[in-house]
Amino acid sequence: MTKLANYLEGRWQEGSGTGSPVLDPITGETLATVSAEGLNMKAAYDYARQQAGPALRKSSYAERAALLGEIAKVLQANRDKYFDISLRNSGTVQNDSSVDVDGAIYTLSFYAKAGSKMTEKALRLDGEPAPLAKDNVFASQHIYVPIQGLALFINAFNFPAWGLWEKAAAALLSGVPVVIKPATSTAWLTHEMVKDVVDANILPAGALNIVCGRPDDLLDALNGLDVVSFTGSADTAASLRDHPRIKHDGVRFNAETDSINSAILGPDTDDDAAGLLVREAVRELTIKSGQKCTAIRRIFVPESKYDAVAQAICAKLKTITVGDPRKEGVRMGSLVNIPQRDAILAGIGKLAECSDILFDGRTESNIELDHENTAVVPPVLFGVRDPDTHPLVHEMEVFGPVATLIPYRDPEHAFSLARRGMGSLVASVYSNQPDFLAQAAGILAESHGRVHLINNDVAKAHTGHGNVMPQSNHGGPGRAGGGEELGGLRALRFYHRLSAIQGSPEVLGKLTQASGSEG
Ligand code: NAP
Repeated sequence: MTKLANYLEGRWQEGSGTGSPVLDPITGETLATVSAEGLNMKAAYDYARQQAGPALRKSSYAERAALLGEIAKVLQANRDKYFDISLRNSGTVQNDSSVDVDGAIYTLSFYAKAGSKMTEKALRLDGEPAPLAKDNVFASQHIYVPIQGLALFINAFNFPAWGLWEKAAAALLSGVPVVIKPATSTAWLTHEMVKDVVDANILPAGALNIVCGRPDDLLDALNGLDVVSFTGSADTAASLRDHPRIKHDGVRFNAETDSINSAILGPDTDDDAAGLLVREAVRELTIKSGQKCTAIRRIFVPESKYDAVAQAICAKLKTITVGDPRKEGVRMGSLVNIPQRDAILAGIGKLAECSDILFDGRTESNIELDHENTAVVPPVLFGVRDPDTHPLVHEMEVFGPVATLIPYRDPEHAFSLARRGMGSLVASVYSNQPDFLAQAAGILAESHGRVHLINNDVAKAHTGHGNVMPQSNHGGPGRAGGGEELGGLRALRFYHRLSAIQGSPEVLGKLTQASGSEG
């Protein structure tokens, strides 16, 4: 049995003890084990801060961007192996694994290109100097400088590839060493990617670290000038926020957590817009078995369209074969593990107590399985006729192939119901009326990190409700964790400190030289 070693202090280190298993969600076979027992995280963090940080920051942004390009090449060269691991460990079909694996490579390549155009050398100027005294003899210039601590990533199981690299791209480009702690259930793929990049000897020693499992002092060994980026459940985020390093010492903490995302069909819409919504709703229900933080959970339609949309979604769901992703013809694989399956089935049970079941894949015949105790859960579509008196549908995230169709009276009703998610990652809106789309964006933006507007003009070009593009912000307020990631070079802010430098114009002028910027 392979025990996934941890890469810390520039060397591979095995945790002691038997460790925790990494399983195949279809067969139950143990694929590997992880253990972080006995690791010295303090020594590992010191090494990253003291060896790798200065080595990274010796390079310019553009030089570090070139390193990201090299990493992308290594991952591209090993792409087939990553798909194979996903097939065995994540339970996802090839198309769904592509969102993770190719998404990781694309995001790294995006930052390699964006970073290659950065003219700054040591620090980044933020805006122009602001006068603080008469005749401008004393002024204030804001600057961003890379943090000299490390970035700890605590990641969710659903994106073992993209989840690492979408964060690491911005951190490494900023000159900040990275420690990834992947979710145990899918740690194998993250581990393999880190191993390939370490073997390729691209980064300074200690710049990229991985710890599989849960070392005792994962957070204790941090200091106040490190940062943590967490993706996972709101409950775990809440307990981490209570940790003294974060609560007391002020470790910067970014959280991407639960999100009850919406899709809204505009009023008075034509069949085209309804068709676009139906296609996207089905895709989001089934891709990665609905285990995407951005997946559509609530589908809002005008009351007059409720029955037609319900029928259209159900008709499409009927055509999808669910089961072992290794089997020919299977379009939707399994959940990540048996505990997730049980959690999703419990969530379905709760929603069923207060909603109509419009489609239940569990009673359909197109399930392809040879094994009995698997993590496969087919899609379920609920309907709620009276959403105003139904708190659960707006509050409970069922992190699987589950969504609820909801009728609305008028656009204000739809927007206020979407807002009852109390902060979400994304809302998508489908209409061929540009005025309505623009109005919707202005209202939904307050409670959503991203608003995705779809009409016929973009029907073929749009990137999808659930796809997180590096060009756009990923994160949402409130329940979604309050975090921000990606969004082009905005992502670098998390790995920099903002400081207001006050001095004479001559001294402030020297900053422009240090930044090396043309502006
Ligand atoms: P989770 O149980 O919260 O675990 C997330 C990560 O936290 C895992 O690496 C886990 O490690 C670690 N962890 C848990 N307790 C910890 C502790 N006390 N100390 C240190 N680390 C700890 O979430 P999950 O089940 O992996 O993911 C599903 C949830 O994530 C869903 O609710 C979904 O909404 C959310 N999610 C959000 C986003 C987003 O971008 N907003 C993306 C994906 C998922 P172990 O695996 O070793 O337990």
